[in-house]
Amino acid sequence: MFSTPLDLAKIRAEFPILARKVNGQPLVYLDNAATSQTPLAVIEAISDYYKHTNANIHRGVHSLSQEATDQFEGARDKIRAHINAAHTHEVIITSGTTHSINLVAYGFGHLLDQGDELIVSELEHHANIVPWQMLCERTGAKLKVIPMTQDGTLDMEAYSNLLNARTKVVFVNHVSNALGIINPIEYIIKEAHAVGAAVLIDGAQATPHMVPDVRGLDADFYTTSAHKICGPTGIGMLYGKEEWLRKLPPYQGGGEMIDQVSFEKTTYADLPHKFEAGTPNIAGGVGFGAAIDYMHSIGFKTLAAHENDLLLHATEKLKKIDGMCIYGDVPNKVAVISFNVAGIHPYDLGTLLDKMGIAVRTGHHCCQPIMDHYKIPGTVRASFAFYNTHEEVERFIAGVEKAVGMLR
Ligand SMILES: *Cc1c(COP(=O)(O)O)cnc(C)c1O
Repeated sequence: MFSTPLDLAKIRAEFPILARKVNGQPLVYLDNAATSQTPLAVIEAISDYYKHTNANIHRGVHSLSQEATDQFEGARDKIRAHINAAHTHEVIITSGTTHSINLVAYGFGHLLDQGDELIVSELEHHANIVPWQMLCERTGAKLKVIPMTQDGTLDMEAYSNLLNARTKVVFVNHVSNALGIINPIEYIIKEAHAVGAAVLIDGAQATPHMVPDVRGLDADFYTTSAHKICGPTGIGMLYGKEEWLRKLPPYQGGGEMIDQVSFEKTTYADLPHKFEAGTPNIAGGVGFGAAIDYMHSIGFKTLAAHENDLLLHATEKLKKIDGMCIYGDVPNKVAVISFNVAGIHPYDLGTLLDKMGIAVRTGHHCCQPIMDHYKIPGTVRASFAFYNTHEEVERFIAGVEKAVGMLR
């Protein structure tokens, strides 16, 4: 029924954690949208860095410092190539998507006037809502919301009606972390540019499944976190078009981000260092680069095809369960299934699945507006990665059936 060119036994052996047991059962890890697991290639890149190269970067004349700088800057260039940015100085290394969005939202505080408008979508992660609300409080700008429809897609007609000459920034996710839906960002970007607005795309949930082409998309800003694509936690990136990064002021002051400092006047370093105050997570950056290499060694087309097989398999079987409601069940989505079973609280279902060694996420997934839209407290979310198997899908389905039987 399913064909896959992936050698899953070999791939799974590269992820030591997948072999462990949870509550006496072999782990079935279906919480990949919250964080992905880490292959040996990444673990070893980090450990090798600390064993052989550890030093502070950029300032040192000694060899270790230069080697560490080369590795960190090498990672930046891997990110640049991966997202098809024109210049490495358009890639800012951050602690992750949250940091990246805060950096941009803070910077726009210096570029907005009272009465300017910002557009967000109802499908956003709190990380792409709250920093902009804080910006609105500081500047008097107004936040407008692209509504979602009942099937979980964004209402593009309503979006067109929100855009006008006062619109300064539009920020939406590439893929919704709560529902898995792929948003029409090409169209969103084109429409925003037609009124002169900048666009930030939160790519945290897209990058595990596809290669973003920031130049093809013509995105002004694009963000992601390494830990969603098999990299370490606490490291991520912000892509920004050079013209925008030059307009934004620095987000933090400190070492690394300066050119000259005196008590009369400080001048800032050039891009990208202007936005990288302090000693960065150097080992994390090296791990991020290794994760990108690892994902490409598998191939994004191959892994996406396998994940889609898992998605179809799990969706078809889940739908046979009495009282099943899947949110955002549209064709254009990644391997994320958000669901509830009538009369059962998502937390109870998640707790019983955990007893069977099956890790899913329950709750609002940092997207309370979506839950408000559906008038539910939360959902159960199963999110798949390329290292998941069809046997795991079967164990997950059997687990849900068993839990539903116990809770009814
Ligand atoms: C995970 C995620 C974030 C937050 O990423 P951090 O690594 O916690 O900063 C933001 N947006 C989306 C869509 C996400 O999936």
